[in-house]
Amino acid sequence: MARYIGSKCKQCRREGKKLFLKGERCFSAACSVEKRPYAPGQHGQAKKKLSEYGLQLREKQKAKRIYGVLEGKFRTYFEEADRKQGITGENLLRLLELRLDNVCYRIGLGRSRTEARQVVRHNLITVNGKRVNIPSYQVKVGDVIEVKEDAKSFERFKLTAEVTGSRIVPEWLEGDIENLRGTVKALPTREQIDTDIAETLIVELYSK
Ligand code: SF4
Repeated sequence: MARYIGSKCKQCRREGKKLFLKGERCFSAACSVEKRPYAPGQHGQAKKKLSEYGLQLREKQKAKRIYGVLEGKFRTYFEEADRKQGITGENLLRLLELRLDNVCYRIGLGRSRTEARQVVRHNLITVNGKRVNIPSYQVKVGDVIEVKEDAKSFERFKLTAEVTGSRIVPEWLEGDIENLRGTVKALPTREQIDTDIAETLIVELYSK
């Protein structure tokens, strides 16, 4: 399964803002965007005014980086969002939020989305008691997401819970970090998705 494996901090610098790709570690003083607030590379410090298309493109790239999704999959999400009833941009964000790796991240089973994705890929997660190792798996209302029983004593989860225990779990989910478990209570509304993305720019880009 393809994924971007380059430097996370460079991705943030390319977008010119903190994308929190390393989870809680991004609150430390060593954040690259704060130390070097310009794009990486030889021409990174050159001042450029973005065109309308440029702004739309950057917004899409930002969303892809935050959720760790490559272009092909992202377009598939857009097409599905467009087919669904309702507002396409909101549908798109909802599809991204309902990915299993994102839900694991939200309930604290990973310090970052990358770590949550790894936990899923390593066969450590069950959905309604059945093992699921597909990060893009779409969870549904009522699903119970949990670390599999014989992995709950792993040191990695103890360390993760120490970091993520104080994380605010969004209202549409019920988190139970002590038992390394969470439940999907409802579909997320736009207001409940705190990701800094202007989804209308992405819709405009794909609608050209
Ligand atoms: Fe981005 Fe986090 Fe690196 Fe800062 S520390 S540049 S927010 S990944």
